[in-house]
Amino acid sequence: MRILFYDTKSYDEEFFREANKGYADIEVDFLKTDLTPKTAPLAEGFDAVCAFVSSDVGRKTLHVLHGRGVGLLLMRCAGFNNVDLDAAKEYGIRVMRVPGYSPEAVAEHAMALALAANRRLYKSYNKVRENDFSLVGLMGVNFHGKTAGIIGTGKIGAAMCRICRGFGMRIIAYDVYENPSLSEFVTYVTLDELLMQSDLISLHCPLMDSTYHMINIDTIKKMKDGVILVNTSRGGLVKTNDLIEGIRLHKFAGVGLDVYEEETKNVFEDRSDEILENSTTARLLSFPNVMITSHQGFFTREAMKAIAETTLQNAVDYVRGAPSPNDVS
Ligand code: NAD
Repeated sequence: MRILFYDTKSYDEEFFREANKGYADIEVDFLKTDLTPKTAPLAEGFDAVCAFVSSDVGRKTLHVLHGRGVGLLLMRCAGFNNVDLDAAKEYGIRVMRVPGYSPEAVAEHAMALALAANRRLYKSYNKVRENDFSLVGLMGVNFHGKTAGIIGTGKIGAAMCRICRGFGMRIIAYDVYENPSLSEFVTYVTLDELLMQSDLISLHCPLMDSTYHMINIDTIKKMKDGVILVNTSRGGLVKTNDLIEGIRLHKFAGVGLDVYEEETKNVFEDRSDEILENSTTARLLSFPNVMITSHQGFFTREAMKAIAETTLQNAVDYVRGAPSPNDVS
C-alpha cells in the first residue's frame, strides 16, 4: 500500500513517519504542494492520496486520480466540504476521514479566542512590549454568570459546553439532534432563541448547504449587543461582508475567528512579504475587537498523533475491504 501525502509541512511528516513505524505494509511519501487537478497526476503509482482542508478535491481532481489508479482518498481532518462526494462515488474512490481526533484541542482554542477577544490580549501583549502599560481599550466582561450559546453539539461543541460549564456559564445550544450526554447542564433552544440570549456564541456545526452563511446580517441583527462570536468550524458558516457590517454596527464586543471565508490561499502559508489585494480579511483585521488565527484549532501534539494513527488505520481498513465509521459517503 503506497500513500502520497499532499500539502505537507515538517510537522505532518514528523507525526506520520513516527506513526508509520507501526505499519510495515504501508509506504508513505510526502509532497509540499497541495492537491489540485494539476498536481493529481503525481499520484501515479500510488494506491491512495492523503489531503487536507484546503485541498481541491473536486470532480476534476478526482477524475485525474481515478485515471492514475488511485482508489482511496484519505482526509487527515474532520471536515470534508472540499470533497465532491458524488464524483468520488462515480469514480469508485473511497473517501475516509478522521472524525474526532481531539475535540478538546479545537474547543480549547475556541475558548482561547473568546478570552483573547474579550480581554484584548493581542493588544495588551503588543502594548506592554512597547512599554505602554495603560489599560485604555482593554476592558472586557466576566464570562462567569453569562450565557454561552453553542451551535452544533457534536464532539467539539460538547467539549466547548463542558469548558463553558467550568467557567460558570449558563449554556444553551442549538443542533438538529440533541446530544444526550449534555442533558444535565445544557438547554436546547431554537436558533433564534440562542441568537437573542447568548453573550458568547461559538460555532461547531459542519459546513453544508443548510449551514452556509448561517451567520448573516439577519441573524447578526437578532444577537445581543456586545455579543462575542467565535468560529472555529468552517469559514463559510459566516458571511464575511455581513460580519463586517455587524462589527460596524457595534454589535460585537469581540470576534474570534480560526476560520474565515478567504482562508484557503492563506492556510499554513507565510505570505508576510506579499501585498494582499482586495482582502476582506485585511478589513476584518483592521478592527480592534477582532482576533484571527490561521486554522490552528486542531494543532496540538495529541491531535496530530491521533490524526496520523487514525489515517493509517483507515488505510488498513481500505486494504482489508472492511467498513469503517470513518467512511464519508
Ligand atoms: P460532529 O459531527 O461531531 O458534530 C457536528 C454537530 O453539528 C452534530 O451534532 C450535528 O448534528 C450538528 N449539526 C449538523 N447540522 C446542523 C445545523 N444545521 N445546525 C446546527 N447543528 C448542526 O463534528 P465535530 O467533530 O464536533 O466538528 C465540528 C466541525 O468543526 C467540523 O465540521 C469541522 O468543520 C470543524 N473543525 C475545525 C477544526 C479546526 O482546526 N479549526 C478542527 C476540526 C474540526
